[in-house]
Amino acid sequence: MTAFVFPGATLGVMGGGQLARMFVHAAQQMGYATAVLDADENSPAGCVSHHHIRSGYLDPAGLTALAAVCAAVTTEFENVPAAALQDLAASCPVAPSGEAVAVCQDRAAEKAHFLRCGVPCAPHALIENAMQLGKVSADLLPGILKTTRMGYDGKGQARVSTQAELSAAWHGMQSAGSSTSCVLEKLLPLKFEISVIVARGADGAVVHFPVQQNLHRNGILAVTQVPAPDLTVEVQTQAIAAAEKIAASLNYVGVLCVEFFVLQDGSLVANEMAPRPHNSGHYSIDACDVSQFDLQVRALVSAPLIAPRAHSASVMLNLLGDLWFAHGGEPTEPDWVKVLVLPGAHLHLYGKTEARTGRKMGHLTFTAATPALARDAALQACGALGLPSF
Ligand code: ADP
Ligand code: MG
Repeated sequence: MTAFVFPGATLGVMGGGQLARMFVHAAQQMGYATAVLDADENSPAGCVSHHHIRSGYLDPAGLTALAAVCAAVTTEFENVPAAALQDLAASCPVAPSGEAVAVCQDRAAEKAHFLRCGVPCAPHALIENAMQLGKVSADLLPGILKTTRMGYDGKGQARVSTQAELSAAWHGMQSAGSSTSCVLEKLLPLKFEISVIVARGADGAVVHFPVQQNLHRNGILAVTQVPAPDLTVEVQTQAIAAAEKIAASLNYVGVLCVEFFVLQDGSLVANEMAPRPHNSGHYSIDACDVSQFDLQVRALVSAPLIAPRAHSASVMLNLLGDLWFAHGGEPTEPDWVKVLVLPGAHLHLYGKTEARTGRKMGHLTFTAATPALARDAALQACGALGLPSF
């Protein structure tokens, strides 16, 4: 087992977005210094970190500089090239490993891994070239065509109903000179969506958060509710067991999130996974005694992992850049006072300088003694901000 990294050491993170920022906050709370590698000089995490290495993920000079200051390194998103993590691992401990991240980076590899673990996923076909495009079974239509790599927040996806639409969408995703491999997934009849976050240590110990129920709008997470209002105990147990198995069989170290669909017939289907804390786990900062970022730090430094306990019911609302454009024209800051006055309100803003449509600017978590009270406050916030209710 890896040795405990004592506070005072520097922990590194690949990527400087909001997930890295919240990791930095948790690491600093435990007395660690931090280093962020991100090319953007205004990155949300770079602004709050002891060290900010401004470089691309594959720049050898940047990686060497990161390894030189860090006792251990993690990542904030799956699109950091796995090769960069593998290179770093030659000079310092890296968790999760490049090998585990490589599986999460590729939708086809990810689905193959679910199936290896005995966890069902959507019927699908890998389309790597125009020949395979012509051979796709009509059973997969209507479906969703997704690029196997680099997709997030509904980007790199198209809904298709006919072979002609499929062909047009596939050609639209191809860039000149190289072919982009895609997965066509059957469109499933969803009842609702959930996610499970687990943390696994180098010693194989694994803990999990309560199951989150998630509402997406336009492919982007909009609302997370914990406890999950529509979930049966049986499906909850299944989902947690599936996530733990998925993590263990990757020999995973760190925080892993698995997204699932619950279908109209009540069955459970794995959608995708993220090798890091997840937007649907942000509520854990305010509603649990240990957050997903605390566990990311613990797993990275080989500290014991303790089972998180939700001490409050909660509802999390994502705050997208769209809110800044509610009145058209120039962006204006939403009237936060109207939401800060609500009971159990926790406002998190990521320090992004520019609001853009669809950009995650922050989130709001409402904690309360009961799910109904948390929902009431969140619905009032939706009213105050002009967000649709849920
Ligand atoms: P992303 O990486 O952008 O989060 P996902 O694969 O999770 O991509 O898809 C985004 C959302 O699209 C899902 O949360 C779900 O609402 C919807 N979706 C994706 N795949 C399917 C499917 N096979 N059937 C029905 N809905 C789907
Ligand atoms: Mg998703």
